[in-house]
Amino acid sequence: MSAVIPAGLTRQSEVSADLRLECGVVIVGSGAGGATMAAELADAGVDVVVVEEGGYHPTESFTAEAGRALRTLYRDGGIGLALGKPPVLFSEGRCVGGSTVVNGGMSWRTPGRVLQRWAEEEGIAAIGERDMEPHFAKVESRISVARQDPETIGNDMRLLKAGADAKGWKIIPNLRNQLHCAGTNNCTNGCPTGAKRSMLVTNVPRALARGARLFADCRVERITWSGDAVTGVEGRFVRPDGRRGPRLTVRAAVVVVACGAVQTPALLFRSGSRSRSGQLGRNLSLHPNAKVIAFFDHEVLGWQGVHQAYQVREFIDDGILLTAVNLPPSLVAMSLPSYGRELGELMARYNNMVTAGCLIEDTGSGRVRNVPGIGPLVTYQLTDRDAQRVLRGVGYTAELMFAAGARRVLLPFDGAPEVLDPRGLRDVLGRPAARKSIELFTVHLMGTARMSGDARRGVVDSFGAWYGVSGLFVADASVFPTPIGVNPMETILALATRTAARLIEQRGQYRI
Ligand SMILES: Cc1cc2nc3c(=O)[nH]c(=O)nc-3n(C[C@H](O)[C@H](O)[C@H](O)COP(=O)(O)OP(=O)(O)OC[C@H]3O[C@@H](n4cnc5c(N)ncnc54)[C@H](O)[C@@H]3O)c2cc1C
Ligand code: SF4
Repeated sequence: MSAVIPAGLTRQSEVSADLRLECGVVIVGSGAGGATMAAELADAGVDVVVVEEGGYHPTESFTAEAGRALRTLYRDGGIGLALGKPPVLFSEGRCVGGSTVVNGGMSWRTPGRVLQRWAEEEGIAAIGERDMEPHFAKVESRISVARQDPETIGNDMRLLKAGADAKGWKIIPNLRNQLHCAGTNNCTNGCPTGAKRSMLVTNVPRALARGARLFADCRVERITWSGDAVTGVEGRFVRPDGRRGPRLTVRAAVVVVACGAVQTPALLFRSGSRSRSGQLGRNLSLHPNAKVIAFFDHEVLGWQGVHQAYQVREFIDDGILLTAVNLPPSLVAMSLPSYGRELGELMARYNNMVTAGCLIEDTGSGRVRNVPGIGPLVTYQLTDRDAQRVLRGVGYTAELMFAAGARRVLLPFDGAPEVLDPRGLRDVLGRPAARKSIELFTVHLMGTARMSGDARRGVVDSFGAWYGVSGLFVADASVFPTPIGVNPMETILALATRTAARLIEQRGQYRI
């Protein structure tokens, strides 16, 4: 499909020779953090260049074909692996707009207790709820955060609500960045109506309209330095077959790294930077998720209706959030504990399934290292406490599904028998589940370039500036000092808005 390419956006197909540019600020990555920095700085008249490894895929190119989306919009076909016992599968977006193009659109402010902890434990300045209020308000208005129109809520969500109501558990309607979402449930393949206000349709076009330049299909290979100051970035365009194309060299007084919590430390390590605190790449948290598949006698048609309309917040003080998410048949089939005819029989019941699950505000910690010539190596260790909470979260989810009328439930433990009622559930959960048999997944990666008011503990300061290097900033999920227990996108946008405001105040210092 031939797309209209916005002015200011250049793709690899338009570049046949090496390019050299100069600008005020170069931003690496066009996802939640990068696109927000670009829009805020361009609004203030700063000369901005954004470099994005992924391709430009406009709204009209999105379809319900999950395989195509995984190839074009995600890194490594949507499968990353954090090694550990158990390992945790993860997904990252890789396209103009980053992971916001494929995310579910849940938009929640950082809980007040988390902001308070950041202020108290890390000494972060100006991070209270009142300080953050204008940043959240601006973000919510830019990306249209609102409740769903009621007619877009599908049966899987109604069952989630019915189960929670039957149990007397607190359940709340989700806030999402959407304008009259049509409930097509295609969010993770890219929103085909443009209703989801991802960076692709908000901050990226805003930045371009204000004069920013964006280079897609271009992977930044290193940040360049002179003494204790950054001088820009060097990258290569990536051809469709993966070959390295022409070079892009950008000279800038300020470099903002916003590649996501896995790629940001990898790029910084590749560039030879080390944080004085030794914390770069450490403190990875990832909100481990575990899912339960529930079968109902009646048709559910979970693929109709919005991606997630509700969250169960009953156990939020214990760091456990419950919800339901319809997954495409290919992903469900991959995760079922069966093969051959048995798998075929289970999948024949796809229309009767609800895929529900729990998300844990983790206390474990992982690490991202860079392996030269290979890329980031991610490791993560689930703590005993979190393993127990995963078991509890799975138990609550399954109980809720039975309360909603489920006839049988599959649990996310290798070799677990299917469960036919709440008593059977207690039997299975009462056995010492081998911790390494829990199947975990995540789409929330955070914390590998931790923000702290104390240079001995943090990689960046209270406003995202790198300790000890002039002109280097981080503005993505890497800066979270701790996990936040709710969906992270809005926090990333609000912190990036705040970092941009600080940089604009200091623009004289950098001459941008
Ligand atoms: C399937 C899915 C569902 C999700 N659902 C939700 C949700 O409902 N609500 C929510 O709050 N969060 C959700 N998230 C998480 C949320 O989208 C991410 O936390 C957020 O987008 C991360 O922002 P970021 O700026 O850190 O990185 P990203 O948004 O991932 O952007 C990073 C960008 O940097 C680019 N990049 C990386 N390395 C380089 C390089 N070397 N050179 C050039 N470019 C580079 C990448 O290609 C990418 O486009 C979901 C995520 C996924 C994957
Ligand atoms: S459910 Fe709504 S936001 Fe998601 S893809 Fe469909 S229209 Fe877009």
